[in-house]
Amino acid sequence: MIAGRYSPFADLPPLWTAEDDAAYDASRLRRRPARPTRERTRSIVAPARLSAVVALVVGAGWALAGALYDPSAALDASTRKRDLICAQTGKVFERSTVPEGATFPLTGPGGAATLYPAELCFWTADGRAKREPTRVLLNMYRGVDGPTVCPDCGREVVYANPMPPIELMLKAME
Ligand SMILES: [Zn+2]
Repeated sequence: MIAGRYSPFADLPPLWTAEDDAAYDASRLRRRPARPTRERTRSIVAPARLSAVVALVVGAGWALAGALYDPSAALDASTRKRDLICAQTGKVFERSTVPEGATFPLTGPGGAATLYPAELCFWTADGRAKREPTRVLLNMYRGVDGPTVCPDCGREVVYANPMPPIELMLKAME
C-alpha cells in the first residue's frame, strides 16, 4: 500500500499508512482464535446433544401423557355426579351420574321423567350447620311459583344454594 493513498488532500498527513496496515494485520493474526482442539469441540457439543435428547424425551412423554389422560373427560365425569330428587315421590338418588348432554327432568327408575337436581341445605332450624344436608326440590322444577322453603329448617333454598359460613361448617364437622 502506498502511503497517503486514502487521503484526498495531498498536504494532509495520511490517515492510514503502510505501517498502520502492518500493525493491523499483525493484530488480526494475534487475535485469530486458535483452531478448536478435539477436546474443546467435545465439551461444546456434548451438553448440546444431551439437552436435545432431554427435550426429545420430555416432549415424547408429554405427548404420550396427553394421549392417555384427558383431564377434561375426567373432570366431566366427576362434576356430572349430582344428587337427584324425584318430583313425584321425593326420593333422593345420591351421587347419580348425569349423562353428558342430558336435560332435566331425567328419566327415573319408574320410567317417568321426574328426576331433578336436588339443592342442598346445610342449615338446622336453630341456625347451626349440619354435616348431612337436606336435599330440596326447587319450586321452579315443580312448576310452583314463589320461593322454595327447606322442609327441615324453613329457610329459603335457591338455585346453587349457598352453604352456611365456614366457621359453622367446621363446627358441624367436629
Ligand atoms: Zn334446611
